[in-house]
Parts: sequence; C-alpha cells; structure tokens
Amino acid sequence: MITSLETFNSRQVGSNIQLLNQSADLQDAGSQMHQLISELYPICRSITGDGARETLSIIEQHIPLEILEVPTGTKVFDWTVPREWNVQDAYVKNSQGEKIIDFQKSSLHLLNYSIPVHQKMSLADLKEHLFSLPEHPDWIPYRTSYYSENWGFCLTHNQLAALPEDEYEVYIDTSLEPGHLTYGEYYLPGETKEEVLLTCHICHPSLCNDNLSGISVVTFLAKHLRSLNLRYSYRFLFIPGTIGSITWLALNEEKTANINHGLVVAGVGDAGKFNYKKSRRGDAEIDKVVIHVLQNSTAEYQINEFSPYGYDERQFCSPGFNLPVGSLTRTPFGQYPQYHTSADNLDFVKPDKLAESLAKYLEIIDILENNQKYINTNPKCEPQLGKRGLYGTFGGTQDKKTKELATLWVLNLADGEHSLLDMSDRSGLVFSVIRDAAKALIEGGLLERESSVAVDY
Ligand code: ZN
Repeated sequence: MITSLETFNSRQVGSNIQLLNQSADLQDAGSQMHQLISELYPICRSITGDGARETLSIIEQHIPLEILEVPTGTKVFDWTVPREWNVQDAYVKNSQGEKIIDFQKSSLHLLNYSIPVHQKMSLADLKEHLFSLPEHPDWIPYRTSYYSENWGFCLTHNQLAALPEDEYEVYIDTSLEPGHLTYGEYYLPGETKEEVLLTCHICHPSLCNDNLSGISVVTFLAKHLRSLNLRYSYRFLFIPGTIGSITWLALNEEKTANINHGLVVAGVGDAGKFNYKKSRRGDAEIDKVVIHVLQNSTAEYQINEFSPYGYDERQFCSPGFNLPVGSLTRTPFGQYPQYHTSADNLDFVKPDKLAESLAKYLEIIDILENNQKYINTNPKCEPQLGKRGLYGTFGGTQDKKTKELATLWVLNLADGEHSLLDMSDRSGLVFSVIRDAAKALIEGGLLERESSVAVDY
C-alpha cells in the first residue's frame, strides 16, 4: 500500500514521500490504524510493566523494533527509574460476594500504580479511595499515582452514587517491585546521519486518542518510510510519558547531536482541527515546515507557541537539550471532555481522522526530505530556458504558467541562501511545484545543490 517513490538525479532533490492522496490508500491505512488501536485497547499499560511489553510486541508485528529494558533504580538526570508495576487482578466485592467493580471489565477501574491491598471495609472508608467524574456521570475517569504510594478504584459517578452501606471486600493483586522500564526504538538509517525523531507514548491503559492514536500513526509512518529511499535517518520512539523521554535522553545523550527535526505524535485520532505546538526555538526548520503544511491546506488549524507544559517536548526542549522538537496533535490534551476518561474509546477515534493525520505527517516529511538549498549555475541575467526545453513546453495553460513562474522563482532564489521552502513561501507557489521546477532545472544543468546537506536556519 501507499507506495510511490520518485528518486531522481542522485537524490539531489529527495524522494517524493507523500502518496496518501489516493483515497483508497488513505482509507485502507485509516482502517488498519484503527484496527491496531482496537488490538491495543484492552491492554492495561503503565509507565512500566508487562502492558508495555505486550504493546511493543504487537507493534513489532508491523515494524522491526528494538525493545529495551532499563533497570529500576537507574539514575536518569534528576530522576530514578521507578519500580515495575504489574497487575494480576483487582476488584471490589459487596457482602453478597458480587464483584461491583472489576478490573477485568476495564483497565481504567484500577488507580494506575495501586499498591496491593486485601481488606474489608465500610462504604465510608472505601469512598476515600474511589474516583468519579460528577460532570460526566457515565464515564470512568483515568487516574494514576506513580510517585506516591496509594491504591484506588475509578468508576462512573452514577455507580458511586448508588453504592449502599455495606461491608466491602477490596482485592488488589498488584506487584510493585524492582524490575525494568521498557521502551521500544526503531532506527531507520537514511543517506545521512542527520535524524528526524518521531516519538509517542505507550503508558496509558485503555485510552484511544491519548496514547493509542499516536502509537498507531507512528507505527504506520515507520512502516511506510522503511519502504522508501530516504535522505534523513529516522528514529521512532515508543516510550512512557515523561520518565521515558528523560530515560532515553539520559542514556542516549550523544545521539541527540544528530537530531535535526522532531515531532511528538499524540492525540491524532479525534475529529478536532490540527494544532501545532512550536519547538522551544520557535523558528526551527520543523516549525517552518509544519506551519507551511498547515497554512497550505484547506483544513482549519491552530499554531501555538512553545510552553513548558504538555507532552515529551518538555524534555526534548529543556534548556540543556533545546532540540528542534515540536508537537502536532489534533485537539490538544485536556481540551476535549473525553480526555483521560472511558469516553476516549474506540468510537472517539475515527479511521478517516487517523488517515488524515498520517497524510499530514507524510506531507511534512516530504518537505523535510526535499528542502535543500541550491545554486543557480547561470546567475548573471536569466538563462535562455527555451533552448534547454525548459520554457513553453509545459502542459495546459494554467499549469504551464505556474510551472514557468516556479522555474523563474527557483532560478532567482537559488543563491545558496534560500531553501526550496523559502522559495515556496516567498512565491506563494505550493512546495511540490517549486520542487518539480528545481528538479527540471537540475536536469537542465542550471541548478546545483549547495554543498551542505542540512538547511541551516
Ligand atoms: Zn494522558
């Protein structure tokens, strides 16, 4: 599926990556991504434990993944890899022995990282450990207690309100012991060592938009890109939020020098408009490319400045790293009522929205791959294009005019200072038209690639 690769002229202009515009391919990718989410949905994930391993082993059926285990107690900058948490079973029974809250029915019922408990108690004592959402009385909230020891259950507010006085049996069979933090990494080498980092979270239990949509889009991006001939190397990370990125950065600090562009992929399956959060630098190439793609699409979008609150861009953009890493989501986390509740379910994420997000990421990657600087080899006055077959030979009238204009813009701005993206922005012509004009000029001997591969903003 989704393959169309155009390589030309020793890759002076990169491959044509985008290819999901064929609606059949898009639809197919959307339903496959939704299918992957359905498979991952029932698993109880957390920042450590077997849920992460099971998740990674499913992703591994799609892409080659290195699965890494970092021991509990490992110092990672100011943090320490926590003890590993695993769940066997958890429930609350009433005095008739009926399970009134059952972890087997939803992984959200158990406070994530609950310590083991087995005791009987009154309703009043039990209520100290119950969490509900009065404003959405039919939804189960998602709660965690990673860094302070606690136990609890989450349930709908309607169920909580209906609990009678009784003696309840609380049973939580969990383990919180020295073990590992598990994460997955896939490194796809390209023509240069310079990297594009694509990262997502694997720490949430049964929640679809937050995290599973990110996992599925990153998996399918990797699956697609590995079939192509790429200029950049790509690093795909499947990590638990916060502690995962801190751990990766602490253990791989020397690799960060190669990260030229990065995106945190999250919340990409809902029906909301695209939201781009800029990198801390604000004017990195990735910022310009994503903004260009959003501005040149018919869909609604919003651009947000960097803030040190959010997903793992907080770590990648901490001042000691300050990497060019932004985050492209649909509705930002916390801004949709279903966020961190049982309503972030399989119906909330849509195959067509997943597909649209995948296409958007591919469009961004296509520009990154092709965005280079060139030198006009005949810069003194315009070269005579006609005798080289570069003028007046294009197709339909409108098409012909646009292509001629693009050719003139590329020749004029190919001074080694302007990237193809700069030319597209300055001319108002879409990137692919500029790219194709550059390709034709290279073939006509009028353009040479500027020696450095990277675009240096
Ligand atoms: Zn979350």
